[in-house]
Amino acid sequence: MRALVLYGPGDLRLEERDIPEPASGEVVIRVDAAATCATDAKILRVGAHPALGPLPSPFGHEAAGTVVAIGSGVESVIEGQRVVPANSAPCGTCAACTREGPGQCEDLEFLWGAFAEYLRVPRRIVERNLVAMPDRLEVTLAPLAEPLACAVRAVGQCRISASSRVVIIGGGAQGAMLSALLAERGAEVTVADPHPERRERALLFGAASTTGRLDTSSVGDFHRRWGQPDLVIEAVGRPDAWQAAVTLVRPGGQVLFYGGCAPESVVELPTTRLHYDELTLRGTFHHDPESFRAAVRVLANEGERFLPLLGAPVALEDVAEALRRNGAKRPVII
Ligand SMILES: [Zn+2]
Ligand SMILES: [Zn+2]
Repeated sequence: MRALVLYGPGDLRLEERDIPEPASGEVVIRVDAAATCATDAKILRVGAHPALGPLPSPFGHEAAGTVVAIGSGVESVIEGQRVVPANSAPCGTCAACTREGPGQCEDLEFLWGAFAEYLRVPRRIVERNLVAMPDRLEVTLAPLAEPLACAVRAVGQCRISASSRVVIIGGGAQGAMLSALLAERGAEVTVADPHPERRERALLFGAASTTGRLDTSSVGDFHRRWGQPDLVIEAVGRPDAWQAAVTLVRPGGQVLFYGGCAPESVVELPTTRLHYDELTLRGTFHHDPESFRAAVRVLANEGERFLPLLGAPVALEDVAEALRRNGAKRPVII
């Protein structure tokens, strides 16, 4: 089979590999759809990621497919069934899993290799995070379950009511998904992004308004024009935007740090605001089995509204070039 394999920074190779066989508890799927993600672009640039095993490594983490081989003991799926595998599964037994829930698992098992003709799904993901694809779910959209699950989980962590005013810093695919989910819950969303085409797109995803780049130097202008929001979600992953989020929110408000900054990043925070204004700051990362299932349901019910997130399809051999140019989400032709 053809598979993309990551060897190091900027070094992604298309190789011929054996079709994997399932061990006990595992299944092998034929990949029917996969999508690129800004995280893939970041990983290709730096050649590493905390969740990636040793290199060379299979690559790509958003996929959907058809079960073609089943290891012994697997009873949850049958051959020929269409499925959406999450790119991770929690252990369910560590202290964090039992204390905080699976989203905090200290031992997440990750799955890479969406950019290949076949994908072997490990036992733990088969047991906990391999979801049957609803018939009405369009297969090209199914790989969006992974990024959407992160947004579903984050929105569940937000303190919002029907009249909440929310600012999302960053209008990428994640910002757009967050906007759609929050608007659905009645929040009035403003998306901040320097790119006009992303601002335009945010309006399709429920944003009531948009504004340009928001950083610490433009927060004052924002306040004069729009006032202070109840909730700010940072969905860029830049220390400056993290700081801007804290400066932007109203007293008593909440900030959700959704975007991952470069490793070792440090952010300075104004203690006056945190202390006297009693801000609530929280980080959020990744998804869990519950939000993954919820995301598959959302895509099955209203998947078409997420189509504008997908750019032009890209062939396996052109994925590296597409990721180098920008991190926009694109279906991958397997
Ligand atoms: Zn992703
Ligand atoms: Zn765990």
